[in-house]
Amino acid sequence: MASEFPDFRTGNVLATNFTGTLSERHGVPVERIPTPQRLADWLKANDLAVDSCSTAQHDLARVLRESIHTAATAAATGNTLHVSAVRIINDRSAQGRAAAQLTPENRRRWRLSATSVEDALSVIAADAVSIITGEREGRLALCASPTCLAVFLDTSQSRTRRWCDMNTCGNRQKKARFTANQREHSRSPGTAAR
Ligand SMILES: [Zn+2]
Repeated sequence: MASEFPDFRTGNVLATNFTGTLSERHGVPVERIPTPQRLADWLKANDLAVDSCSTAQHDLARVLRESIHTAATAAATGNTLHVSAVRIINDRSAQGRAAAQLTPENRRRWRLSATSVEDALSVIAADAVSIITGEREGRLALCASPTCLAVFLDTSQSRTRRWCDMNTCGNRQKKARFTANQREHSRSPGTAAR
């Protein structure tokens, strides 16, 4: 069943994993959580498993996602945050009752209550706050692919990461560069003869 939908991208920053569920925003957009069930699958894949997800909760999630995307993009480019995006992030953050739990393996797990989609969204909203404020180690940046421009948290030592995702945008760019080089090479003998 799941294979009829686009795959999820993985990364270690929850909030940008979430905004990455809509990719190629400036090209042909790929919606990775097109249905409530697919959102539930995504939450499960990100250690925020919920019992069920309604259409209304799915709508809330996508509104939150776009608000995080807008606010994080503004933060990455040094612009003022949109008041409405800030309000939505804050509302979602306030409306959850997730509790941080310590596991015996020294890891953090979120314990969600019965109305758990709201709880899961509050965890994502809080994660967004931590990256937008710059509280977390790393630099907010936009993907260098012009059709993507996804926001990501660059935690590389040199802070020079260019792609939101090496497996998609990075590889596509590498391939494009390779093809351009090949074309350049096949043209060069003629140029050299002149
Ligand atoms: Zn990208």
